[in-house]
Amino acid sequence: RAKASDMHSKDCVKVAVRVRPFNKRERDAGSRCVVSMVSSSITIQDPRDPQIRRSFCFDYAYWSHSGFTRDHSSLYVPEEPGGRYADQDSVFQDLGEGILENALQGYNATLLAYGQTGSGKSYSMMGYGANKGLVPKLCARLFQAIRDNQENRQCQVFFSMLEIYNEQVVDLLSRGSRTLGGLRVREEQQRGFYVEGLRTVPCESTPQVEQLMEQGTRTRTTAATHMNANSSRSHMLIILQLKQIFSKESITKQSNINLVDLAGSERQRSSGSEADRLKEGTAINLSLTTLGNVISALADVAVGKKVVHIPYRDSVLTKLLQSALGGNSRTVMIATLSPADICYEESLSTLRYAERAK
Ligand code: ADP
Repeated sequence: RAKASDMHSKDCVKVAVRVRPFNKRERDAGSRCVVSMVSSSITIQDPRDPQIRRSFCFDYAYWSHSGFTRDHSSLYVPEEPGGRYADQDSVFQDLGEGILENALQGYNATLLAYGQTGSGKSYSMMGYGANKGLVPKLCARLFQAIRDNQENRQCQVFFSMLEIYNEQVVDLLSRGSRTLGGLRVREEQQRGFYVEGLRTVPCESTPQVEQLMEQGTRTRTTAATHMNANSSRSHMLIILQLKQIFSKESITKQSNINLVDLAGSERQRSSGSEADRLKEGTAINLSLTTLGNVISALADVAVGKKVVHIPYRDSVLTKLLQSALGGNSRTVMIATLSPADICYEESLSTLRYAERAK
């Protein structure tokens, strides 16, 4: 989509949409593909009325590399799928490299995964097995870059991992942190918003980071089970802090990379009581809506529109992301969706949400 100051807006906020392969449930149900692509624009067709089609433009649009398309072509794929097949490496090249470069220059960045539960957020962010996702790939390249630049700078990397559930912060790397009411979010003039007492672990290698990711993911799942909830209802945030000391010039640069696996975007149904469901649903919606409002306001700022108020303070998530959204920061959203007709409503709402960020 041509916008007046495209250059700038493109640099600040990038949006990618990734369509996962059909899963077994969808194949068993004989689902049809309702998504099609032409380069980086996506069209979705209403399964009840094929005349109704809606198109959206993004910076990137991807089919999945594995499985579904070519193997099951007649059944599962539109005749001319268009678009691009992308594996984890290509996605990293498009979305991760820029974030890394930015961070090495001393700027903050935020990478968000948005979509319905089961649409590929964790696959894209963390990855499964040998298909490593954006987070481990980013760490590997970061440590590589640190090794390659050893002569002129000294670097330290710190890793934290937390969860926001019902507007409460839980430290995923610290056992004793499940205090009533969660950890406190504080604000300081210089530092902005931060979580008091959050564990930050100095890291020197990718395996070390992967081990922490695993530990955090385990804690997230157990915590959810304890609360009779589901981890898809919480937001997971990994904060990578990079500190670079250039001793010759006596400069220190510090940048934060926020990596966010958002709560499932589907309308919330809960196994808990009505009261729990309401509270939880409201909290999830509050942060997803606020995040959408913030990013959309930032996109407006980027194209030179006058924006009076950016509602960072309206949710815990946007408070914590404030210093890494807008300004010189880079924001990347990867919106994930299913190709299947049975997910049409959710996929359409994901595309609409993602479009607001542009
Ligand atoms: P979410 O985190 O959104 O709930 P997951 O990332 O767990 O969803 O994905 C659900 C399932 O779909 C997983 O088994 C995952 O391996 C598979 N999957 C998701 N995205 C892709 C993809 N791009 N390519 C291959 N498999 C995928």
